[in-house]
Amino acid sequence: MDDQSTIFAPASGFGRAAVAVIRLSGPACAAVLAAFGGTPPPPRRLALRTLRDPRDGAVLDRALVCWMPGPDTFSGEDMAELHLHGGAAVRAGVIRALTDFPGCRPAEAGAFTRRAVLNGRMDLTEAEGVADLIEAETAAQARQALRQLDGALGRQVEAWREEILTCLAGAEAALDFSDEGDVDEAGLDRALTGRATAVRDAVAAALADGRRGERLREGYTVVLAGAPNAGKSTLLNALSRRDAAIVSDRPGTTRDVIEVRLDLGGLPVLLVDTAGLRATEDALEAEGIARTRRRIAQADLVLLLDAEGAAEALPEAADLLRVRTKADLGGAAGEAGGLAVSALTGAGMEALLAAVRARAEAALGAGEGIVTRERHREALARCAAHLDRVARAGAEAPPELVAEDLRLAARALGEVSGRVGVEAVLDRLFSSFCIGK
Ligand code: GDP
Repeated sequence: MDDQSTIFAPASGFGRAAVAVIRLSGPACAAVLAAFGGTPPPPRRLALRTLRDPRDGAVLDRALVCWMPGPDTFSGEDMAELHLHGGAAVRAGVIRALTDFPGCRPAEAGAFTRRAVLNGRMDLTEAEGVADLIEAETAAQARQALRQLDGALGRQVEAWREEILTCLAGAEAALDFSDEGDVDEAGLDRALTGRATAVRDAVAAALADGRRGERLREGYTVVLAGAPNAGKSTLLNALSRRDAAIVSDRPGTTRDVIEVRLDLGGLPVLLVDTAGLRATEDALEAEGIARTRRRIAQADLVLLLDAEGAAEALPEAADLLRVRTKADLGGAAGEAGGLAVSALTGAGMEALLAAVRARAEAALGAGEGIVTRERHREALARCAAHLDRVARAGAEAPPELVAEDLRLAARALGEVSGRVGVEAVLDRLFSSFCIGK
């Protein structure tokens, strides 16, 4: 790695807290600990030190420090941690002193994990697992992120890649031999084709997962739709037990799209309140309705709310559940098996949540898939397409073309784990990462 700087960043959350951890990575860690804390602490043990500003000797804090010599660390470099008292002044004082320390600079978002990947401590899929684990809001999301962090995708992709490289070696040997014209080419091809076909089938099976991994990361999207005044905003508030949507008697007040994230028994559910569907002259409201239609088209489930039980089905919805609202007002009974709820009295709310949860569970599964991002899916699909050409190539197919398809298939897998094109993916991944990770 060319970057010889020592980076530092707060590793714990901001705000007043009992302890604030500042994390460092890079060659100056030992010098920092000596300059701030005096006697160097033993490796991998927390040691209590009085931290002094190296510039003027002023006491900054009395804190636990930890010294972790590389390369067997998270980043693969020398690392250190300062467990400060969590006050803003203490933290700011230490950060100012570190900024002035030779060779030290504040870390950009994801910098520690980036170094871990570049130093071979983890592959790209594991780094994505770290990102997802930090983002995880529900238990199922955390489980999926931990599995990826543990290498579930990386190991599988590498195993496939190894197998393809073995086939490639066979194809290249066949190429060499065929030049000499003394080998049973067709025999070699059959064994090779069989193995490539098996990998293709395994990749295709991993892709045929209904996008569960991505959906678990994004959340199961439930759109509340229905005419103005059907009770969408009120229901959203009742479901989320938060005042996220403005409720008003005037039709057409929910002009924009309001989203609330719910944790339904460990499953992430994104509830989307939408503008009421009705003909309108109002340009702003018309834009809201256009957005509603787009959200309905993307939704996993549409709750079609209606106080009278007469709303028309929306043909473009993937899955639709009719819900009669304002059940406390009486009126026409819902259709048989339909749900009737009252946001006012809470009647029917548990049944509605159970119905949504059952659908989310069916759609997201227990998160047993290994593909969790569009990036993986695109590369795996490309790999499968190349292997498919190998599988369908007859004995008379030019061996150099078979070899090229195998090479491209292996390359696509290399992109998933980060053996190929790692920097570009890291830039994109870490643009959404937090500082200090
Ligand atoms: P939206 O336009 O579909 O979002 O509808 P709102 O949530 O703004 O509700 C419209 C009106 O119906 C408001 O006056 C609400 O107080 C009322 N409302 C909503 N839900 C219920 C309910 O369960 N029972 C009764 N009685 N009134 C409700």
